[in-house]
Amino acid sequence: MGFTESCARLLFVLLWAAVGWSSAETGGAAEITVLLLNHARVSRDVISHSEAEATRIFSASGIHLRWVDCSQTLVCHHVPGANEFVLSIVADGRTSSELVYGVAFLGPGGEGKYADVFLRRVEAAANESGFSEQRLLGAVAAHELGHLLLGTRAHSYEGIMCPVWKKAVLQRMEMGSLLFTKDESMTMKGRLAGEPMGRFPAFTKASARGLIP
Ligand SMILES: [Zn+2]
Repeated sequence: MGFTESCARLLFVLLWAAVGWSSAETGGAAEITVLLLNHARVSRDVISHSEAEATRIFSASGIHLRWVDCSQTLVCHHVPGANEFVLSIVADGRTSSELVYGVAFLGPGGEGKYADVFLRRVEAAANESGFSEQRLLGAVAAHELGHLLLGTRAHSYEGIMCPVWKKAVLQRMEMGSLLFTKDESMTMKGRLAGEPMGRFPAFTKASARGLIP
């Protein structure tokens, strides 16, 4: 190995290390694919706005959402791969409380691929509060997708992982400032980079619920 070759290899290693450091420092780009099952037959216009809202929320965490409309394609007919998640919009929730807007189904290790959003309850909450249904639908979708990346016991009182959405939380949602916290963002990106789901012990499911005084 000559001097030039050694220097070139060293330079490559340094550059590679610099790129890796830069990525870790900035959080790097991360992407998830959301396979959307529109069982509730929500209009395309509402879906588009809700997707945009959820995408905006995740973008603030440095995570890009790629949406796949499963009613338009057969590519959803497979077991979700790495960084793929299935979000179903269903008319009614199967849980007892009318205040629950959605649910994420999590395994023993806190991992999960599937979440539901309950359309009728979101509509009722939007009507009662006077806030945007489309924005609320997107925010609930982001909350449930957050569970799939953060596991259970991921609730926080600081941002979108707040478990109970009282009027003050909904006001933040309406203003567009209901986001993931910095720690949640880092945890989600770590999860997408392949880190194990170790921080949050298991439950079978987790949900977003609202309480509008
Ligand atoms: Zn929740």
